[in-house]
Amino acid sequence: MSRLRVAIQKSGRLSEKSLEILKSCGLSFARSKDKLFWYGRDFPVDVLLVRDDDIPRMILDGVCELGIVGENIASEVMLERGSESELNRLRKLGFGHCRLSLAVPEKMAINSITELENARIATSYPALTRYLLEKQGVKPEIVELSGSVEIAPGLGTADAISDLVSTGTTLRANHLKEFEELYQSQAALYGRANDISEEKQTLLDRLLARLEGVMQARESKYVMLHAPREALEKITELLPGVEHPSIMPLEGSDRIAIHAVCGETVFWEHLEALKAEGASAILVLPVEKMLA
Ligand code: ATP
Ligand code: ZN
Repeated sequence: MSRLRVAIQKSGRLSEKSLEILKSCGLSFARSKDKLFWYGRDFPVDVLLVRDDDIPRMILDGVCELGIVGENIASEVMLERGSESELNRLRKLGFGHCRLSLAVPEKMAINSITELENARIATSYPALTRYLLEKQGVKPEIVELSGSVEIAPGLGTADAISDLVSTGTTLRANHLKEFEELYQSQAALYGRANDISEEKQTLLDRLLARLEGVMQARESKYVMLHAPREALEKITELLPGVEHPSIMPLEGSDRIAIHAVCGETVFWEHLEALKAEGASAILVLPVEKMLA
C-alpha cells in the first residue's frame, strides 16, 4: 500500500506547530530512536525530521512528497533552481509569520529603495532578495551569509541587509532600522507540481480535506449572545462571515439568543459593535472540529 512522506523542521521555530497540525489531522507516529523518521500509525503518512532549508529540495528530488516550510525558503529554492523546479503550495498554515525586510544602519539617511542601486546587501536569501529588488528596478550587490546577517553593516562588509524580521528587536539591538518590507511569509504545506501516483494522490486528497477542516475550524469561532429581537438583522450583519445564525427565544424575556459560527476572525471591534446594537452576554468559543 502507498504511503506518503512529509518533511518537517527537526528543531526550530516551525517544529512544534508543524507536528501539532499533523496531529490535528488525525495522524500519530511511532517515534524512532534516531528521531529522524517517524512511522505513521493510524494513517499512512510518515514524517521526516530535517533542517528546514533542506525541505524544498527533498520534495523536488523525490525524497518525500510533502513538506511544511516557510514560504521564504520555498521561494528562495525555487528561484535558485529556476523554472523547472516548481513546488506546489497546497495550503498556507497560519503560523510562522515573518517578513523579509531591508534594514539599514540607524544613522543612514535614505528615502527611497532606488538609493540602494549597487549597494552591498547582506542576506541569507540571495535569490529572493535579488528577485524582489530587481522587480523594483534596483540592482544590488548581494553578499551571501548563512547567519548573523545583522552584524554585517557594523563590520563594514555590507551597506544594508535583507533579513527575516518578526518583532524588530534584533534589528534595534544592532542599530539597524527597518526600511522596507520586501516579502511576507508564513509556513505552508508544499508538494511537487504533479508527478505522484494515483494511489498517493487519493491519499493526499484525504489528507488535504482533513487539513482544510482543521484550518477552517481554527479560523472559525462559535459566537453566542443575547439581543433585542428587533436588532436581529443588524446583528447578523455584524457577525463576520455569518449568513444564517440560529435564533432561540429566551424564557421570560423579549430578548433572543443568537448562535453562529463565524468563518472569519472575530476582533474586539466586532464585539464592541455588537454591544452597541444592544447585544449582551457575548461569548466567543473556539471550534474544535468541523466537517462542512
Ligand atoms: P534549521 O536548523 O532547521 O535550519 P533555522 O535556524 O534555519 O533552523 P528557524 O530560525 O527555526 O530556522 O526559522 C525557521 C523559519 O521560521 C524561517 O525560515 C521563517 O519561515 C520562520 N520565522 C518566523 N519568524 C521568524 C523570525 N523572526 N526570524 C527567522 N525566521 C522566522
Ligand atoms: Zn534553516
